[in-house]
Amino acid sequence: MSSYDVIVIGSGAGGGTLVHRLAPSGKRILLLERGDWLTREPQNWSAADVFVDNRYISEDSWYDGTGKPFQPQVHYFVGGATKLYGAALYRLRAEDFGELQHHDGISPAWPIGYDEMEPYYTQAEQLYQVHGARGEDPTEPPASAPYPFPAVSHEPRIQQLADDLAAAGHQPFHAPCGVMLNEADMPYSTCVRCSTCDGFPCLVHAKSDAEVLAVRPALEYSNVTLLTNTEAVALHTNPGGTSVTEVAVDREGVRETYSADIVVVSCGAANSAKLLLASATEKHPNGLSNRSDQLGRNYTFHNSQAVLALSKEENPTVFQKTLGLNDFYLGSDDFEYPLGNIQMVGKSSAPMYRGEKPLETKLAPTRTLDNMARHAVDFWLSTEDLPRPENRVTLDAENGRITLSYSPSNEEPKTRLYHKLKELLKHTGMHEDHLIPRHAYLKNEIPVAGCAHQAGTCRFGTDPEASVLNTDCRAHELDNLYVVDTSFFPSIGAVNPALTAMANALRVGDHLLERLGAERSGSEAAHAA
Ligand SMILES: Cc1cc2nc3c(=O)[nH]c(=O)nc-3n(C[C@H](O)[C@H](O)[C@H](O)COP(=O)(O)OP(=O)(O)OC[C@H]3O[C@@H](n4cnc5c(N)ncnc54)[C@H](O)[C@@H]3O)c2cc1C
Ligand code: SF4
Repeated sequence: MSSYDVIVIGSGAGGGTLVHRLAPSGKRILLLERGDWLTREPQNWSAADVFVDNRYISEDSWYDGTGKPFQPQVHYFVGGATKLYGAALYRLRAEDFGELQHHDGISPAWPIGYDEMEPYYTQAEQLYQVHGARGEDPTEPPASAPYPFPAVSHEPRIQQLADDLAAAGHQPFHAPCGVMLNEADMPYSTCVRCSTCDGFPCLVHAKSDAEVLAVRPALEYSNVTLLTNTEAVALHTNPGGTSVTEVAVDREGVRETYSADIVVVSCGAANSAKLLLASATEKHPNGLSNRSDQLGRNYTFHNSQAVLALSKEENPTVFQKTLGLNDFYLGSDDFEYPLGNIQMVGKSSAPMYRGEKPLETKLAPTRTLDNMARHAVDFWLSTEDLPRPENRVTLDAENGRITLSYSPSNEEPKTRLYHKLKELLKHTGMHEDHLIPRHAYLKNEIPVAGCAHQAGTCRFGTDPEASVLNTDCRAHELDNLYVVDTSFFPSIGAVNPALTAMANALRVGDHLLERLGAERSGSEAAHAA
C-alpha cells in the first residue's frame, strides 16, 4: 500500500483543478482516474463518430426510477466531462447564491455568498483562459478583474442576430468562452476556430479543458502522480468512522489500496454519491457522512432544451457559441419567476441529426438534412430545476449500480422560455414557426441520460442535519474527507456549471494548503523541470 498527503479521486473540472492548485506545494499527491487519456485521433472531429456512434460516451449502465437501464452521457477520461464540454464558462449570478423564489418553489441559498466565491471565479477565469466582455450582460455579477482575454467575435450571421436582438430592445452579450483563440494573431493561435467544438474533443488541445490546463501542468511537478484506468470502489475508515484510512481501487482488474492524510472525492455528482454510498460501514450504515440522509439527494441537471431555428438566409457560421441572452434569467414583464438562460450551441450539421432519433425519423433524405443544416441556427435554453430530496441517486441492491430517480420541476418557466425565444425569432430573420426541438449531444431519448450538467448530491451547508458537507466541502462526519465536484451545489442556477466547480476547487484548494501547512501561492521547489 502506498501513502500520500492527498489523494484526489477524479480528474475533471473539480478534481483536476484542485490538483493544479495543490501541485506547487511539494506535498505528495495522488490523482486517481477511472478513465484513460482521451486519444487524439481524426475521429475527435468527426460528427458521425461523436454524435452517431457515441465514440466518447463511456460504457456504463444506470437505471432510471422505474428500473429501466440506460446508458448515461458520461465521459470517463483524464479531464472528465470537460474533454467534451462546450467550454461556456459562466459565473453563477449573485442572486443564485441567495434564496430565490421560483414558480415551483424555492431555490435554496448557498451557505457562502457570491462575494466569497468571487476571487476564485477570477482565478478560475485566468486558469481556464476565459474569453469574454464585461458590462454587456445585465445580470452579470460584480467582478474584480476583466476577463483575461477579449471576447470571441461573432461571425456575420450571429452578429446580425445580436444586432437584431439589440434593435428589438434586448441585451445580447458575448458569451464567455474557454477556447485558446487569438484572433489578433491567427497564425499563432492554438485554436483554429472550427465547427467541431461543442460536444467534441479538441484535436489540437486548444479547448480550455481540465486535462490540458490543469492536469498536464500539475504533472510537471514530481510530487504529483496520476494513475489512469484506476477506479475507486470504496473508502475504508478507522474503527471510529471519523476518518478515511484507505482508498480501495480497481486498477485494470486488480484490487489495490492507497492511503493519504486527506482524501478528496471528485467523481462527478452521481459517481461521488455512489462511492460514498458504497462505502457504508457499521458507523455509517447509510453511506459515509449520511446521518442527514441527504447523500445522493437533491440531484439537479438543468431543465435544458436544445432547439433549432431556421434562418431565412443561410447560416454559414463555423463557431456559433458566441452569444448569450439573460434578459429572462430572473423573470420577464409577464412572469415574476426566473425563466433562465438562452445561449447558442455548436453549429449543427446533417450527420448530427442522424444521431438524434426524433429528427432522424421525421426528416429523411440527406439533401433535406443538408439544407436544414445550412439554415440552422442552434440555441440552448436552460431553466433551473429545483433540488428535491426525492430526485436522488441510490444504489441497486443487487449489483451496486446507480439508480437515478428524477421528476422534473419548473416546467412552466421552461415552456415560457421556449415561447420567449419563439417571439424573438420574428425580429431576427428566422421562420417563426420552425423552432425544432433537438436532442443535442446524444441520441438517447431517456431524459435523465443527458446528465452533462449533473450536480447536487452532496450539498454543502452549515447544518449537519440538512447537508453532507460543511462550507469547506469537508464531510460533516469525517475529518479528512472532502468532495469538490458539482456534487456540492445546493442549487444549480441556470447557467453552465463548470466554472463554479473550478472556482470552488481553487477555494477548497486554498483551505487544504492551509491545513497542510503549505504556502498558498506554492513554491516552485518541487518542479521537475
Ligand atoms: C457534452 C457536454 C457539454 C458541456 N458543456 C458545458 C459548457 O459549455 N459549460 C459548462 O460549464 N459545462 C458544460 N458541461 C458540463 C461540465 O463538463 C461539467 O459540469 C463538469 O465537467 C463537472 O465537473 P466534475 O468535476 O463535477 O465532473 P467531471 O468533469 O465529469 O469529472 C469527474 C471525473 O471523475 C472520474 N471518475 C468517476 N468515477 C470515478 C471513480 N470511482 N474513480 C476514479 N475516477 C472516477 C471520471 O472519469 C471523470 O474524469 C458539459 C458537459 C458535457 C458532457
Ligand atoms: S474551436 Fe478551437 S478549441 Fe474548439 S475544437 Fe476547434 S480548435 Fe479546438
